[in-house]
Amino acid sequence: MSRWPNITIIQHPVVQERLTVARDRRTGVEEFRRLMGQIARLMAFEITRDYPTRRRTVETPLGPCEGCELARGLTLVPILRAGLGMVDAMLELIPTAEVWHIGLYRDERSLKPVEYYNKLPDAATVQVCLILDPMLATGGSSAATVDILKHWGAARVKQVSLIAAPEGVATLSAAHPDVDIHVGAIDRALNERGYIVPGLGDAGDRQFGTFAGPSSEPGHDPTDETAEVVRRLQQNLAREP
Ligand code: URA
Repeated sequence: MSRWPNITIIQHPVVQERLTVARDRRTGVEEFRRLMGQIARLMAFEITRDYPTRRRTVETPLGPCEGCELARGLTLVPILRAGLGMVDAMLELIPTAEVWHIGLYRDERSLKPVEYYNKLPDAATVQVCLILDPMLATGGSSAATVDILKHWGAARVKQVSLIAAPEGVATLSAAHPDVDIHVGAIDRALNERGYIVPGLGDAGDRQFGTFAGPSSEPGHDPTDETAEVVRRLQQNLAREP
């Protein structure tokens, strides 16, 4: 039993094998993008286990058959930009889902989320929001996104991530204990730059091929401020019962 009752680790061997290939530093951009989709699709299968359906009767060549159709009421909220790689795969499985965009960027020094774009519909029309972010690192962006969604009227929110850091799970769970968190793995810790270790590196760069050289590599040259934020998150984690 995990110390966080709201977390589910998807142990399916295919998810774990695909995740291992995604972690491998030798995996190139094209393959990495494909893997993001594959893993997201497999995770969506598990996460939508309780998805509401309506009865639907169809005519087979031999007569009427009572079946079902997916009720509307699910929306995907990708955290830009890394979460975008999970959207298409999820939509393949749930084509009726809406996609909403909330733009938050992580201030490189403070690691705090800063909102720069918000395109939520006027009325709270959906029942379940899935926040998509491959890496649940500090938990700051996710907690801020849940704040925005709840304030707007979302009834139920779930977090979907390939990999989580314990610090991120603790932050999100403390801020929003009612949010179910679905992950492929919980890794060891954040490094002093706020990257998950061992993780898979920068999920945005690895999907979009935006490598700016050694200074942008995870773990390189942490600022004092960033390292201090990580230290604080780690202290909070250590204080948890
Ligand atoms: N974002 C990433 O892309 N990777 C991490 O390890 C942490 C945040």
